[in-house]
Amino acid sequence: MPVITERKSIQSISVPASWHDATDSAAASPLLAIDAIEALFNLPFADLIHQAQTVHRANHDANKVQLSTLLSIKTGGCSEDCGYCPQAARYHTEVESEEMLDLATVVATAKLAKENGASRFCMGAAWRGPKQRDLDPVLDMVREVKALGLETCCTLGMLKDGQAEQLKNAGLDYYNHNLDTAPEFYGEVITTRDYQDRLDTLDRVRGAGVNVCSGGIVGMGESQRERAGLIAQLANMNPQPQSVPINYLVQVEGTPLHDKLGGEKAIDWTDFVRTIAVARITMPASFVRLSAGRQEMNEATQAMCFLAGANSIFYGEKLLTTGNPDVTRDKALFAKLGITSL
Ligand code: SF4
Repeated sequence: MPVITERKSIQSISVPASWHDATDSAAASPLLAIDAIEALFNLPFADLIHQAQTVHRANHDANKVQLSTLLSIKTGGCSEDCGYCPQAARYHTEVESEEMLDLATVVATAKLAKENGASRFCMGAAWRGPKQRDLDPVLDMVREVKALGLETCCTLGMLKDGQAEQLKNAGLDYYNHNLDTAPEFYGEVITTRDYQDRLDTLDRVRGAGVNVCSGGIVGMGESQRERAGLIAQLANMNPQPQSVPINYLVQVEGTPLHDKLGGEKAIDWTDFVRTIAVARITMPASFVRLSAGRQEMNEATQAMCFLAGANSIFYGEKLLTTGNPDVTRDKALFAKLGITSL
């Protein structure tokens, strides 16, 4: 899928005609226009949350949340330059480059995740993309985790032709590859691969019949317009991503974004909740995941995210290399809110 606005049909949702870009009346299946998406961001907070909750209830059980556990199977030493990432070899952070985990460790961790209630197990590796010698052991991990009765997910960077098919044949259910941000802001954050590379990988994943997990990060210094641009890229995919992680930037010392933003939050919590709500409204059938940054959120903000339509979380003590609320706290919060897991 090209970055520029090729017309794509949006089969799964029905939205008001005014949302579509009316300048192209010839388009059989018009895009959701960025202006219309930005207008959602500008709604009064209560109106936006009401719309999001209405869409959410029409498409999902409002009191169920899907639990995914994420394990870093190969940490650090990455050749890429993502400005938010402590795993990039070029930045001086506390994350060291490690060997890939062995199969037994991965399977034992997956078993524990299942015992704790996770339904999906995500395996992440800090690579630009996997070489075949890297992919072979990952295929074994996917087979073994799938055999435990868990849904499987991988995030391994860019995929070459044929690699998504190998993962699919091993039993992969989801592949995560985030767009991160809008095309217009992307170059401020990453220079070692371009937006089109990301879209090409997502095309390969989709083409292999693997579910797409793709979202972004907010709080990197982007504008509201650029947040709307990210949502437009995701919502105009055909089909829309089955899973949409929305991450709140965790600024890690030693990364360029920490240097640039100085540890100060770049967006207010209300803008984060708005982003969740707009994702929910524009991608009604997708699972919208409240992802990184949750540890820094109080319970009230997390509850607002669920009210805005988030219905998936990462569950477990660590998110690749940054912290995540521990399982006990999550269980307590779910009990307070009457939420149960899918
Ligand atoms: S986000 Fe992924 S690709 Fe980018 S530097 Fe980190 S590990 Fe590498």
